[in-house]
Formats: sequence, structure tokens, C-alpha cells
Amino acid sequence: MFTVRFVTDTYAPNQTVTMRWAPHWELDRGGVYRDGAWTFDLDETAFPGGIEFKFVLAPGNWMLGGNLALGPAELAGVHDYTAPQVSFAPAAALTTENGLVAQRFFARNLDPNHHYDVIVVGSGMGGGILASRLAEAGADVLVLEAGSLLFPTHVGNLARRLKYGAFDKHIWSLWPDFKVVNYVNTPGSAFAGAQAFNLGGRSVFWGGLIPRQAPWELAAWPAPVRDYLLAGGYAAAERAVNHVPPVNTAYQESSRAFLESTISGYVASDAAVAAQYRGATALSLPAGLFSTADLLLEDRLVDTLAPGRARPTVNHNFAVWSATIDPANPGRVTGVTGWDLLGRRQRSFSADTVVLAAGTIESAKIALQSGLTDPNGKVGKGITDHTIRYRHFTLPPGAAQASTTDSAKVLLQHPAATPGQHAFDIVVELGADFNQGRYIDAGDLAHQRAVRGDWMLGEIVFMSYAPLNEANQVLVTGDPANPVEVTCHPAPPSGADLAEQDAIAAAVFGALGAQPVLGEGGLWLQTADLGGVAHEVGTLRMAADGTGVVDGDLKFLGYDNLFACDNSVFPTSPAANPSLTLAGLALRLADHLV
Ligand SMILES: Cc1cc2nc3c(=O)[nH]c(=O)nc-3n(C[C@H](O)[C@H](O)[C@H](O)COP(=O)(O)OP(=O)(O)OC[C@H]3O[C@@H](n4cnc5c(N)ncnc54)[C@H](O)[C@@H]3O)c2cc1C
Repeated sequence: MFTVRFVTDTYAPNQTVTMRWAPHWELDRGGVYRDGAWTFDLDETAFPGGIEFKFVLAPGNWMLGGNLALGPAELAGVHDYTAPQVSFAPAAALTTENGLVAQRFFARNLDPNHHYDVIVVGSGMGGGILASRLAEAGADVLVLEAGSLLFPTHVGNLARRLKYGAFDKHIWSLWPDFKVVNYVNTPGSAFAGAQAFNLGGRSVFWGGLIPRQAPWELAAWPAPVRDYLLAGGYAAAERAVNHVPPVNTAYQESSRAFLESTISGYVASDAAVAAQYRGATALSLPAGLFSTADLLLEDRLVDTLAPGRARPTVNHNFAVWSATIDPANPGRVTGVTGWDLLGRRQRSFSADTVVLAAGTIESAKIALQSGLTDPNGKVGKGITDHTIRYRHFTLPPGAAQASTTDSAKVLLQHPAATPGQHAFDIVVELGADFNQGRYIDAGDLAHQRAVRGDWMLGEIVFMSYAPLNEANQVLVTGDPANPVEVTCHPAPPSGADLAEQDAIAAAVFGALGAQPVLGEGGLWLQTADLGGVAHEVGTLRMAADGTGVVDGDLKFLGYDNLFACDNSVFPTSPAANPSLTLAGLALRLADHLV
């Protein structure tokens, strides 16, 4: 016998390091963590020509650099390896936490014999709303979530990060701390998005802005879906995410009127947001922004279930790799297989119905890894994020609409817009950080205002409609733990729309007497990073005429019981932010499945 050891404190005890060796490089060989080292006791007779090997951080993260080797004469005694000889790419590791709150309120059910009505993969905006609705309707639902319970509520409901004097979107200020880059760009690809691997997904970090799509934006969508959304689905989705318009103060009203008169031809309305809780009575304390982490936590905390209602089971820290196809019926799935990040082993779960809701990139990855029949060759194709152009600006005291105590949020849309003309939404925020931030300590707020000399901060944002860019795609690269490869190029608006946006911005800045934010450049529109606020769509696009990946009921073509419910199903990248539409799709799918 001889022993190979990887001596490390860094990759233990909450992680697993395996060995893989030639010629069967695909097999993980387990060891034990003992005395500060991953230890592998091996039989030298199995390696007559010596051993060529590598360490792998499970699941599938190979050590960097070349293979390690021991010749036949060295196969005795103990061989120690340490960093930096053994190192791993600082991969966007999933956070695996299993704290008391998670254990108490989200007890996992790992029983492989429990057969569920529905498995929902992912607990974000699409999956969280769907799972909650299904459980309310009495379905036995298992949510499989790759991440941990990170925050039990939207980060905007927590104490704010204070950046005195800076323009700071407090509501998502913790996003850079926790986002995970879960892909590799191909050369020339400009994608800069990220995933939130945690209970609630990106709904824990989003901005809460919930415009509806106008009928022209939905023109390329399946007619039953369009009709549903416009005839009541949007209203139902607004109720589900607690649609709250800005308080109709005199300042909100005057800002709306000011902007409508400045931007001729556009109709201004109050830009509503999704609130976590509206306050059922005057004494109920309204609290912050909507997230599906809150939603699912509340579902778990229901003490006495009403007849016909069930509690969803949520297995956190379980990364689904693939849907399992029924060997007896290639048109059905039996459940899913994946990796238990806490138990460090592969597991399978079964259900009558499986819904992929892991987000535009991860759901495409799961679909590709499942080897699904893909009659139109469109799984993973067309990932698109619309063009967002924006500018922060300041208003000096005395400027039009300047105020030290007010804020406003206004949405502007062209009533005669088409996919070819005026194909964008405009959002203007005045006093933006004051309408979003919590200042628990009033002194901090006073200091923030004083540091700025009472200059007000504002933002104008243009979000353009885009058809899917067919040159874009997501590709899997082998091991299910590997990040996918993304090719994503912009989907630019027309030259006329770009020029119109520039002219509108200049008119607004001129009318307001706006000044640039120090250190942020001049008053020209800046293009946001592709995927920067997780609006990417399209990898599992829906079509009513059989030309997409899923049909108008979000069911995969060729499968009786496999569905998708996240932004991947959008057949266009709308001007409107996607989440209200996704909430509508989740409600419609829940109705369809129960
Ligand atoms: C900073 C920021 C601001 C935003 N502002 C707005 C806004 O104002 N308005 C708006 O409409 N939208 C906004 N968004 C976008 C919105 O958050 C996303 O569009 C929405 O969350 C997407 O929902 P989803 O269900 O497709 O994906 P997600 O919400 O990301 O959910 C996917 C879930 O699947 C899980 N998962 C992934 N892979 C696996 C796997 N293999 N197995 C199991 N689980 C898996 C993830 O951990 C995650 O919980 C914003 C986003 C960000 C980041």
C-alpha cells in the first residue's frame, strides 16, 4: 500500500477533494479527511506502470496545472502534496451554509422514495412564485435549490450600506458581494451577468420595478399567453407581488407632469414597485421589497394548514444536473438527478411533473445536460439581454424639481410604439437613493444630505425592446459542475431609437438644469453591462406554433410532464423589466398544473 495526501485546511472539512487518475479520468476516487489532509490509501499492484493523477474539488473542479505522477519505484510510503502545487481556480463556489434557521424552517427531505406531485428546480422569481402557488393549491411540491438560505428577505429590507456622498442604489447594494459568475465567455462575448445561488435567487437582490409589457411588446408572444397577461394575468401578477405605486405626493405629481411636458409624445405614469407587505391595517408595519425567499419562508411557517393547502418542501444546497427521462417512455421525465452540496453525493428525486426554473443560463444547462429531444435545435440558443442606457445626474439646490426632502419615480412610454419605433421604456428617478434607502439612524441621513450640500441625485434609464439575437448561445462543456460557455453579443436598438434616446436625455437634463455626478463622466448616456441586472432571456423560448423549445403552456416540445418557468422562456427581450411578466407566467403555469 502507498498513501497520497493533499494537505490542506482550506478545502476541508465542508468540501470534498477526490482523486482521478489515468486512464479512467472520468471517475472520482474518494478518500478521507484525516489529520489535516485528504488521504488516499492505494494498492500499488493496481499501478504497475506508476500512477498519473490529479486532485478534484467535488463536484468536478479540477486542480490547476499539469498532472501529478509517481513512478513504479515510488509507490510506497506517504506522498504529501500542498498548495501551491495543488490549487483550484477561485471558482464561483456555491455558498453552502446549513445554519439553524435553514435546518429549522427548511428541513430537507432526502427520502428517495418520496414521490412528489411537482419538482420545481430553483426558488427564484419564477420557481418561488410557482412553488408557492402550487403548494397553496394543495400540491406536494419539492423545491430543489442549489444555494443556501443566504438572506431570509430582500437585501433592501436590511440595514443599508452607507456611502456618504455617493449615488448608491441601496436596494441592491449587496448584489456585488454575493453574485456568482456561473459561466465563461467565449472570445468576443460581452456577457457580464451573474447568478444568485441562494434561496429566492435574484429576487433577493432585484430593484422591484414592475412595469407591464405593452401589447406591441407581446406581439411575438403566443396569443393565449398574450391574451392571458393583458386580460387579467398582469393584474393577478401585480397582486401576487404586492404592486405599490409611489405615494402620490405633490412632488411625484409635479415630476410626472414636468417629465410628460418635457418628453413630448410620451405618456408618464407612476412607476410601481413590488412590496413585500402592504400593511393589512393601519397598525400593520409595511416592510420593504418583495422576494421569493420571504414568500417561501412564510409558506413554511404556516402553522395550521387550511384544508387543501400544503407546505412546499425546500431542499437547499441541491444542484440539479439533469432531468431523468423515463426509460419506458421517452416522452416523459421521472424526476431529476443532481449533486447534494451538503451530503457531497449524487441523489435523485422523482415526481409526476418537473419544472425547470433555474434561470436563463442554468435551466438551459440542465436541459442540455438532460439530452432532451430538441426538435428545433433551439435549446440554449438566442440568449439575449436588451440594451439598457442610463445616466446618473445631480440637481443643485434651486434647480427645477430640486428638493431636499422629496423623491419621485416616473415611467414613460410612447403610446404608438412598435418594435421598430420608440421601442423603449424610460424610467426617471429623482431623489433616487432617498426613495429606496433605509436610514435606521436619522443622523446618517442628515449627514448624507449635508455631505452633498443638498444636491439631489437622479437617474434616467432607457430600456429597449430586442428580438432574440440568434447568434448568441449557451453551451455545456462536459462535467455538470463546470460553468457553461456563453456567447452573448448586444442586441442594439435602431439608430433612430438611439438618436431619440440621446435627444430625450439632453432635453430632460436641460429642462432640469442637471449636472454630472462628480467622477462619473458627462451627461451622455452610458450603456449598461449585458446581463448586469439579470434581464437575459430566451434560451428555452416559447412558441405556440411548435418552432420554439417550450409551447404556450411552457411545456417542452416532445415531453408530457417537463416544463420551464423562468426568464429563459421569453421569446423576446421586452422593453419592460421582466419580473412582472414572469410572475404572470408562474401563476398561469400553476393554474395549468393543478
Ligand atoms: C441588481 C438587480 C436589479 C434588478 N432589478 C429588477 C427590477 O427592478 N425589475 C425586474 O423586473 N427585474 C429586476 N431584476 C431582474 C430579476 O431579478 C430577474 O429577472 C429574476 O430574478 C429572474 O428570475 P428567474 O426565476 O429567471 O431566475 P432567478 O431569480 O435567478 O432564480 C433562479 C434560481 O435557480 C437556482 N438554481 C440555479 N441553478 C440551479 C440548479 N442547477 N439546481 C437548483 N437550483 C438552481 C438559483 O440558485 C436561483 O435561486 C434585477 C436583477 C438584479 C440582479
